[in-house]
Amino acid sequence: MFESLAEPKVDAILGLMAAFRADERTDKLDLGVGVYKDPAGKTPVMRAIKTAEARLLDEQDTKSYVSPGGSPAFCEAMIAQVFGAKANTSRIRAVQSVGGSGALRILADLLQETRPEARAWVSDPTWPNHIPLLGAAGLELKRYPYYDAAHSKVDFAAMMAALGEASSGDIVVLHGCCHNPTGADLDRAQWQDVVALLKERELFPLVDLAYQGFGIGLEEDAGPTRLLAEEMDEFVVAASCSKNLGLYRERVGAALIVARNTADATRAHGRLTTVVRANYSMPPDHGANTTERVLTDSALNEEWRSELESMRLRMVGLRKDFSEAMRKRSNSDRFDYISRQQGMFSRLPLDTAQIDRLREEFGIYMVGDGRINVAGLPENDMDRLADAICTVTGTA
Ligand code: PLP
Repeated sequence: MFESLAEPKVDAILGLMAAFRADERTDKLDLGVGVYKDPAGKTPVMRAIKTAEARLLDEQDTKSYVSPGGSPAFCEAMIAQVFGAKANTSRIRAVQSVGGSGALRILADLLQETRPEARAWVSDPTWPNHIPLLGAAGLELKRYPYYDAAHSKVDFAAMMAALGEASSGDIVVLHGCCHNPTGADLDRAQWQDVVALLKERELFPLVDLAYQGFGIGLEEDAGPTRLLAEEMDEFVVAASCSKNLGLYRERVGAALIVARNTADATRAHGRLTTVVRANYSMPPDHGANTTERVLTDSALNEEWRSELESMRLRMVGLRKDFSEAMRKRSNSDRFDYISRQQGMFSRLPLDTAQIDRLREEFGIYMVGDGRINVAGLPENDMDRLADAICTVTGTA
């Protein structure tokens, strides 16, 4: 029976990871994989997580099921993290999810059920997994232009023009902060314009919030989502704990619903738990239980926030050092934008041949669209990287 299946497409990033592992050069550099790395190239378990996990092991006395919607205390803590500790939560509900990806998928199922005719607009470019996650729920996908590659900035006019063509009831997927793959975020005034357009055209926002705390700060990065909560009657958020709590493999996230009123919120929450039940029945507990402890214990919370902030500041510093090295080596300000962008990713203005040459000649690995993981930039070897880029671009 399986002989009729098409061969699966090789995931570009997984292929890149395998090639990097097989490369025997000692000075090879991985700028491809999308996980945070410390100066030693490790993706650490955060200190507060270690403590919370130890407490969990010590205190847990049952492995019985929790519920399709997950732990209510975890959900409450995630609502507070995303919408602020003082937010009016009467029309907000959350369901614990299997990472941010799981949140996207169950929300897509819910939206497909609610609005089968709606199309989902994603930015061009976007995180590649948006396409199968939303597409598998049966949503028709459309793309809105987002990035002006020639000038390494958001193409805001083109974005607004495209969304101006969307039909009432269409879904607009917005990166809450730290746009993946470009690192180019909207500023406050642009967010306000987007919100005005969403309202005017009766569009429905789906916010993907996967990097809260990696951009300007934990509270600041939720600013656009909180603006939507002030202005919009209804929208949804897929929040991930993979990056900001370093819990990647534990699969922790939350699907959040903002509804018109309490009754709608309760109904939508109920339907979402039905979607969960039909998919995987119950979410796993370990990572969410650990997260709940970190978010609700004030000492652990403080320790986590401070470690997260030092990770963020490290990436801000690496951005600055890289743009300075590029300015010095290329004698131009072409790469200054890297220091103005947010989060873990940026795109380098390189073509496929240049990216291949960086890998083959210099052992420098990055995704085919020029996306680099800023956390992987070499703290003490920025000049070698800058030299290699200048060599392949002919600007040395
Ligand atoms: N959204 C974006 C933009 C991402 O980059 C990622 C992970 O890389 C996710 C969502 C989902 O992450 P996870 O499912 O690991 O929580």
